[in-house]
Amino acid sequence: MHVPAAGKTSETECDICLGELFRDGGCEFKKRLRMMPCSHTFHQSCIWDWLLDDRRCPVCGYAMPSEKRRRVEEEMDSQRLRLARVNIN
Ligand SMILES: [Zn+2]
Ligand SMILES: [Zn+2]
Repeated sequence: MHVPAAGKTSETECDICLGELFRDGGCEFKKRLRMMPCSHTFHQSCIWDWLLDDRRCPVCGYAMPSEKRRRVEEEMDSQRLRLARVNIN
């Protein structure tokens, strides 16, 4: 999935948590954004949680191709490993 830059998306709200996408402050994790192939944008943490249960876009129902979903899952796994290591240290 793309990591959209500020101003590159027409959306201002994450449709999963209904929070603002480009809020100043807030936790670092929530400031990371991800754009689905259908070009809907969400917080990375929100869309990753969502994709664990459902591979469709919560806004338009676009079904993530299984190849793309597999890559996202790999990325989630590596991120979790990294977070786990941070927790141990
Ligand atoms: Zn969100
Ligand atoms: Zn969509």
